[in-house]
Amino acid sequence: MGAELERIEQAGADYVHVDVMDGCFCPQLTVGPSIIGALKTRLPKDVHLMIEDPLEKVRWFVDAGAAMLTFHVEATRHPHRVLQALAGSVTRGVAFNPGTPVVAIEPLLDDVEFVLMLAVNPGWGGQRFAPGTQARLEGARALIERSGRKIILGVDGGVTRDNVGSIAAMGVDLIVAGSAVFDGGDVVANFKQLRAAARGTAA
Ligand code: ZN
Repeated sequence: MGAELERIEQAGADYVHVDVMDGCFCPQLTVGPSIIGALKTRLPKDVHLMIEDPLEKVRWFVDAGAAMLTFHVEATRHPHRVLQALAGSVTRGVAFNPGTPVVAIEPLLDDVEFVLMLAVNPGWGGQRFAPGTQARLEGARALIERSGRKIILGVDGGVTRDNVGSIAAMGVDLIVAGSAVFDGGDVVANFKQLRAAARGTAA
């Protein structure tokens, strides 16, 4: 894993995005804070928590070295409280599943630095980028602009080398790619191709 991370560093990735799944909020189980802490990389760790009741657990991930920490608004009754608990420690993110109304971000915009829109339902493999995501991103962008705050808007799920150009044109600041980079082939070539397509330039 360290060798693969080194390759995406060389390729020019901005962050390493780690999906944390607990087998409860979504069906898969992935890694916890000890693995995140052990990851050797110079890239900032962008940790995406797909776990139930994050309030009592976010501290573990801060202590493990997360630079950005994102939890799901659907996973807690108290999203505002989670953001308060994280104030001053990390770049704070909230994530939204495809079935959650975009307007749910509105009461949180004073306390968040990152909004992550999921284009698939987390934890089920092989899903395509949901077509409604574009309208959801536009809705989120409008709410962010109205807040007057500088908030990163990101998208996660279903990103491929074929659709990344059109996704970038939806006005996002950050695109998460997983299997489009780590497909068993050349990680650096895949990354460079994705980035060039996102920027509308030749690879
Ligand atoms: Zn993710």
